[in-house]
Amino acid sequence: AKENGRNNFQFFTQQLHDKAKQVLEIENELRQALVRGELSLYYQPQVDVDSHEIIGAEALIRWHHPNKGLVPPDKFIPIAEESGLIGEIGDWVLHEAVRQSANWKANGLCIVPVAVNISAAQFRLDALYRKVVGILRNYKLDPAMLELEITEGVAMESSERTIAMLEQLSALGVKLSIDDFGTGYSSLNYLKRYKIDKLKIDQSFIRDLCRDSEDEGIVIAIIGMARSLGFKTIAEGVETRDQLEFLKRKQCDEIQGYLFSKPVPADEFAELLRAGKIE
Ligand code: C2E
Ligand code: CA
Ligand code: CA
Ligand code: CA
Repeated sequence: AKENGRNNFQFFTQQLHDKAKQVLEIENELRQALVRGELSLYYQPQVDVDSHEIIGAEALIRWHHPNKGLVPPDKFIPIAEESGLIGEIGDWVLHEAVRQSANWKANGLCIVPVAVNISAAQFRLDALYRKVVGILRNYKLDPAMLELEITEGVAMESSERTIAMLEQLSALGVKLSIDDFGTGYSSLNYLKRYKIDKLKIDQSFIRDLCRDSEDEGIVIAIIGMARSLGFKTIAEGVETRDQLEFLKRKQCDEIQGYLFSKPVPADEFAELLRAGKIE
């Protein structure tokens, strides 16, 4: 048994070692990815629940790794957050989203607000406000064409700094939405503190709509609450007609999900914008 214990221990430390090595490897490769231009943004349309018009987009990062192919964000964003690389990646994302919007506009497209994910670690770094102002100015883009998605955790952190930064950003005209709403903290106190535009109902509540009456109850409650507080609601991860019909009946405002479109590269999104709506 003693032998066995030692083997297990060795096995365990070996696993830890492998894991740490993997993380380091990704971190190093990610640093190069930034320089080599292996990162890109895909855009997923957000549509009006009734008209199916495109009223926004979420920018989602993609990493085209030279030999691993497409690496999903869940595989590298957490590592970027831990290593501090998220600062640079976050800057790149903001810059790229604004540059792309200004470019679409210059090409005569009728643009929509593009939402960018801001991670908690990125939010804690100073200068987010200054950067946003600088980038918008640089590309002469209307601040209302940029939306920042923050999580409940960030919104909840009611430090003076967070409050001041979110107030400054909304005073500038940038839109704010709460991502993955319903999965984070239970306190709803923060909702009245900021000028929030949208609640994004997390896809975990949408997945089993029309099968799970508890999820239906939660979704109905979130829509009702948002309505009385003056926020818009968007449902994430909508994949079926049934889910769409349910959300329409319950007066959810907007839909994002594979039913309408997966996240697509910039040139494909431009085509969708040109059409204006999705059938
Ligand atoms: P998220 O912000 O909740 O983004 C929504 C995720 O749901 C995206 O995954 C999207 O592709 C996926 N999705 C959209 N519609 C459907 C659907 O109908 N069904 C299903 N099953 N999934 C759907 P993705 O692109 O893999 O991103 C995963 C997460 O990575 C994001 O979750 C976000 O937390 C993070 N992320 C992505 N891009 C960025 C970024 O630029 N910066 C930061 N900080 N985080 C990012
Ligand atoms: Ca998001
Ligand atoms: Ca989300
Ligand atoms: Ca998420």
